Amino acid sequence: MKYLITGGVGFIGSHLCEALLQAGHAVTAIDDLSTGRMSNIAHLQAHPQFHVVVESITNAAVMDRLGSECDLIVHLAAAVGVELILHSPVHTIETNVMGTDAVLRTARRYQKKTLIASTSEIYGKTEKVPFAEDDDTVMGSTKRSRWAYAASKALDEFLALAYHREMGLPVVVFRLFNTIGPRQRGRYGMVVPRFVKQALAGQDITVYGDGAQSRCFCDVRDVVRALTGLADSAAAVGEVYNVGTQDEITVVELARKIKQMTASKSRIVLVPYEQATGEGFEDMRRRVPDTGKLQRLLHWQPQLNLEQTLTDMIAQARAEGPGDTISQRAAPGAVVVG
Ligand code: UDP
Repeated sequence: MKYLITGGVGFIGSHLCEALLQAGHAVTAIDDLSTGRMSNIAHLQAHPQFHVVVESITNAAVMDRLGSECDLIVHLAAAVGVELILHSPVHTIETNVMGTDAVLRTARRYQKKTLIASTSEIYGKTEKVPFAEDDDTVMGSTKRSRWAYAASKALDEFLALAYHREMGLPVVVFRLFNTIGPRQRGRYGMVVPRFVKQALAGQDITVYGDGAQSRCFCDVRDVVRALTGLADSAAAVGEVYNVGTQDEITVVELARKIKQMTASKSRIVLVPYEQATGEGFEDMRRRVPDTGKLQRLLHWQPQLNLEQTLTDMIAQARAEGPGDTISQRAAPGAVVVG
């Protein structure tokens, strides 16, 4: 099969390209390098079945050619990461809405099966866990820019499902929960690579709020297995799937685990949200996926636990050195919890 991966040079995209090439497929990645890095796919570039196009997915002529040449599209290109979303809200909304529109138009022209990436942010601040695909969403105020990301992705889902219903386009929507692994960077806000870098550099490990908020961190290689399964499944068409693990950990426990695994002397400090992210931010207390639908379809289960993934991420961060260190000094009088 010939795959077109938008955002193929990003963290998740690069792992997906790698898995597809290993399975014997041909892969073209399109990426504007806004958050993707060529170093993510450096080890793939000599592969005869792999091609990279550095271009925006909103370039209609390029997308038309790539869409006509492929068998299946996986649309991962998006503005992601809390930092980016809070600091560039116009870019976030435009990239996510116009980008998906461009991909779906192309897909429709050639009737290509298309997998659309969405996010657990869609569930908003609902307190009913675990989150199932058909649950209601509870979005915050439009004055708070965090919800712009959730709303832009909700529109992507509506659009994709509308293309399916109205025009028979074979689409599958997948909602990614917190995904971690080698090659992920903390620059745009992702907590695990940030804590790893801070711990290795002996800097304060910055836990936002009271640290009792929890997340479920799934290894990117498990996520990629789910995505390739959805790509192969005819029964998945027209449906929405949660992709993630149900292994839950609080952010302060995560900080302690990373501190211990790196044998770090860093302090673990609590940073108030107003200081960490400023206005416009609302954090979610818990975020746990109901993955029953995916399990029933693909018999999929995560295979790598948090320790295994952290071990790999720590090894990679050690090998890279301090280049991308996140520095965030806790205010004097900060609460030290570890
Ligand atoms: N977080 C933190 N310190 C950081 C970055 C993030 O305590 O330096 C917290 C954040 O407030 C959230 C959790 O870690 O509760 C996960 O954040 P991330 O941005 O990785 O993903 P989210 O689940 O918010 O999309």
